[in-house]
This record gives sequence, C-alpha cells and structure tokens, in this order.
Amino acid sequence: MSDMDPYRVLGIDNSASDAEIKRAYRRLARQHHPDRNPGDSASEDRFKSIQSAFDEIGSPEKRQQYDEQQRFRGMGFGSGGMGMEDILRQMMGNTQFSSHPQSSQPKGIDIELGIDIDTEIAEKGGKIPFVLSRLRRCKRCEGRPSNSGLSCPVCAGRGVQRRESTVTVNIPKGVEQGHKLRLRKMGNEHPTGLPGDLTLIVRIDPGEDRRWESNRLIQTVAVPYTTLLLGGEVKLTTPTGRKIRLSIDAGSLPGDRRRIPREGIGGSPFDIELILEEPGPLSDEMYEALERLRDMGL
Ligand SMILES: [Zn+2]
Repeated sequence: MSDMDPYRVLGIDNSASDAEIKRAYRRLARQHHPDRNPGDSASEDRFKSIQSAFDEIGSPEKRQQYDEQQRFRGMGFGSGGMGMEDILRQMMGNTQFSSHPQSSQPKGIDIELGIDIDTEIAEKGGKIPFVLSRLRRCKRCEGRPSNSGLSCPVCAGRGVQRRESTVTVNIPKGVEQGHKLRLRKMGNEHPTGLPGDLTLIVRIDPGEDRRWESNRLIQTVAVPYTTLLLGGEVKLTTPTGRKIRLSIDAGSLPGDRRRIPREGIGGSPFDIELILEEPGPLSDEMYEALERLRDMGL
C-alpha cells in the first residue's frame, strides 16, 4: 500500500461511485500518459501514482478492502500491514470491543459499505441487489470449534467463515448522497454472540462530467477559450436532463464556478465549473490568426 490517499491522487471524493473512479482514472491516465508527455519525468511519476491509486481502489472488492482498512486505522488499529482477518481475529477475542457496551453479550463487528445507485433510483427509489461478503457462523461447528475436542477443519477454530450472498436493499425515494441505511444484524456474525449491523452508505453516480465534492454536485462545462475571453453562451444538460443555456461573462477563467439552483438531483442546487475546451484540429486560417494574436502579445 502506498502512503498516498488514492482518492486524492485521482482527484475525487471518497464518497464517489465506482463509475466515477473509473472515469477519473481514464481521464488522468490519458492526460499524463508517457506517450503524450515524452521525456517529462514529473508527468511519468504522476502517471505511476495514478496507476497505483487505481490498483488500490479501482475494483469494488479492492476498494471495499481499502475503505475497511482506513476505517479500522481510524479506530486506532495499527497500520496497513495488518490484514482484515487479523483485525477481526483480534477483535473477536476482545468482548470489550462491542458496539453495544451496555449489553454483556459479545457482538460481531459492524460493516460499513458503499452502495452505488444512479440518479433515477435516487429520485424515484427502488430495489438494488448487491453482493455482501461477511463472516458467518461456521456451517460445520456452528461457532463452537472445540466442541469435539479437536479444532474445526472448516473455520480453523475461529467459529466463523467468510461467505458471500446477494442481498436486495430498498432504496427510499429522494435519497441523498451519503445517506446511511442501517440493516440490523446484517454485519459480521459472532461465533457465540449476536451479529453486528450493516450500514450502507449511498453513493449516487452523478454521470459523465460530474462529480461530488463533500456531497455537493459539481458539473464541469467545457468552454472555448474565445468565449472565456469575450463572453458568450454555452449549452449544457443539467443532472435532471434539462437542456439550459448559461451565459459566460467576458474575462471568465477556467475553474470559475456558478451555482445553479433547483436543477440538481432531487431539486437541489448544483455547481458549474468552467473548464477550457480542447480545440479540435486547427485550420491554416486559425493558425494565422493565432500567430497574429501572439505577435500582438496575447
Ligand atoms: Zn468451524
């Protein structure tokens, strides 16, 4: 594991959907690709860190593992060297580490998991299936590995084993980015005690050219250089699919932002961020005009 936060390397929020991660990776990998930046060692380093960031969180399984490790690290458990199973074993043996300290019964560890939905489900609600991997009570020894006097060969004496199942969750209508859905007793099972809980954190995939920043939706809009300088108008499609025109003030800069009320997901506001449009192939005439501008000092 590298020391760099892979979310930060990819320029995305850690509440981003898996699809957003893929899009950010593709965009940055293209931008910093060695073929495009020959001999630029800074760009090459950046390309490598983008690759390793994507290795860490690019697939849902790896991302879940990374997020889990970060969560446990935040709870005061050692650094990256420790595997999830080691952490669990340590916690299983420690009944004080229970999410319900008032009850004397030991409890399995809670799970926190992101669930990706699209904007339509966020607006209208619906059922979403997902694969849940968690510790279940061992099928062979039913959590009592030493009953027979011998260690259970299935769970190696742990009393629990990791199993996957498909679970369907009901997403309520009008759900917001970052909303937490609690599914009681759907967390890791304990060899003898109660199961932990499962918390699903809703991640709404905002779609192409949009991203979340601390639960605020940002949409990038590519504007030609001349429009930034001279002012004008650009067309854009809002997150709810409405086509609108946005007037650009003369002297605008890439990175400038504007807030658009009510046109975001669920009638919330969203922010426009201006970016510079990549010009297409230039004609001879355009080259000549640009050369003239350069000669005039622009
Ligand atoms: Zn067993």
